[in-house]
Amino acid sequence: MSTTENAIASAEAHSAHNYHPLPVVVATADGAWMTDVEGRRFLDMLAGYSALNFGHGNRRLIDAAKAQLERVTLTSRAFHHDRFAEFCTRLAELCGMEMVLPMNTGAEAVETAVKTARKWGYQVKGVPDGRAKIIVAGNNFHGRTTTIISFSTDTEARADFGPYTPGFEIVPYGDLTTLEAAITHNTVAVLLEPIQGEAGVLVPPPGYLAAVRELTRERNVLFIADEIQSGLGRTGKTFACEHEGVVPDMYVLGKALGGGVVPVSAVVSSAEVLGVFRPGEHGSTFGGNPLACAVALEVVAMLETGEFQRRAAELGDHLHRELGLLAGGGAVETVRGRGLWAGVDIAPALGTGREISERLMDRGVLVKDTHGSTIRLAPPLVISKEDLDWGLDQLRAVLAE
Ligand SMILES: *Cc1c(COP(=O)(O)O)cnc(C)c1O
Repeated sequence: MSTTENAIASAEAHSAHNYHPLPVVVATADGAWMTDVEGRRFLDMLAGYSALNFGHGNRRLIDAAKAQLERVTLTSRAFHHDRFAEFCTRLAELCGMEMVLPMNTGAEAVETAVKTARKWGYQVKGVPDGRAKIIVAGNNFHGRTTTIISFSTDTEARADFGPYTPGFEIVPYGDLTTLEAAITHNTVAVLLEPIQGEAGVLVPPPGYLAAVRELTRERNVLFIADEIQSGLGRTGKTFACEHEGVVPDMYVLGKALGGGVVPVSAVVSSAEVLGVFRPGEHGSTFGGNPLACAVALEVVAMLETGEFQRRAAELGDHLHRELGLLAGGGAVETVRGRGLWAGVDIAPALGTGREISERLMDRGVLVKDTHGSTIRLAPPLVISKEDLDWGLDQLRAVLAE
C-alpha cells in the first residue's frame, strides 16, 4: 500500500466516519497550495470553507500566534488578560457595533446568538416566558449542535438526532411574503445567512436582505446575520450584508476570524442586545483566550485596510467572468456567488459533484462538492491571478473530458 492508502486505511479504522474526505493526505501547506505525504502539490480552492481566507501559513498570523505562544495562551475568563480588550474593541469597530461576545466554533456562536435573542425577547421586548420564536430559512446551515440541527431542513443532518429543540419556524429562503406572515409578537429574531454557503452558494433575490432589514426593524424583531462563511472579505466586502447596504442587529462570525490557526467565533452586536447578559449566564472556558485574541486581532487588523476585500472583489469579478463563459455551454448549468466564492452546477450527465471533485484532484485542484452536481469554489483570498487561472484551466479540462 502507498503512504496515502495506509494513512486513509488507518483513519477509516480508527475514526468515526462522519466525513467522506477526498483521498488526499495533506502534509504541509503554504498560501493557496497544499502538499501531500507523497510530495504532490494541490491548489486549495476550498480554503477550509472560508476559514483560510488569508491562506495557509500566513506570515502575519503565524508570527502573531508564535509571539503569543511565548507569553500566555489561556487564562479562562475568571481573570482579565491583556489581549482581550483590544480584540473586542477593534472587532466591534470593524463591525460598526458596540459589544463582542467571543466563543470558539461557529456553532457555539450561533447558539450564543439564539440565547441572546431569546433573552432580549423576554427582558427587552416583553415576550411571555418560554414563548420566544426565531424564524430561520429553509436549506440553512448554521452548525451541528442538537438545537441547530433542530431547525435544519437537511435530513442527513437531522435524522436520528431528535428529540428536537422547539422555538423555530422555517420559511423559504428569499421569500419575503412568507417571512412577513410568520412574524408574531413572540418572534424575537430572524436568523439568516446573507448568502447560503452549504446550500450551494445561493444568493438571495436582489432587495431581499434590505427588505428583511426593514421588516424586522418595523416589527421589533432582531435581524441576525450568520456571516460565518460569507463574512470577513470573502464576497469582496467585509460582510455580505453590505452588498445591500444592510446592517443587521447581530453578526455571527467564525471561520476566518481564527485565521486558519485557531477556532475563534463571536457574536457582535449593540450594547442593548448583548447587554442582556449578567455574570454566570453564558460562557466558555476557551472563548476569548489570549492566543485566540492575538490571532483574531491580527485578522481584524488585516481587514481594517480593506486590501483583502478589494482583492476578493477584483479576483472575484475575474472568476465570475470566466465561469460565466462556461455557463450555458452544456457542461455547466448555472453559476452563483459573489466575490471569490462560487457555486457551480455541473450538468448531471458529466458526473456527480463528488466525481468532478475527484477528477479535479487528479489534476491538482482541491474543491468540495455540496449537493448533487454542485461544486463550490472558494480559494484563499491571497491566491494569485495566475494560480486562479490555472485552477480554472483544470476545471475547463475536466468539463471537456
Ligand atoms: C461553518 C458554518 C457554521 C458552523 O461553524 P463551525 O465552526 O463548523 O461550528 C455556521 N454557520 C455557517 C454559515 C457556516 O458556514
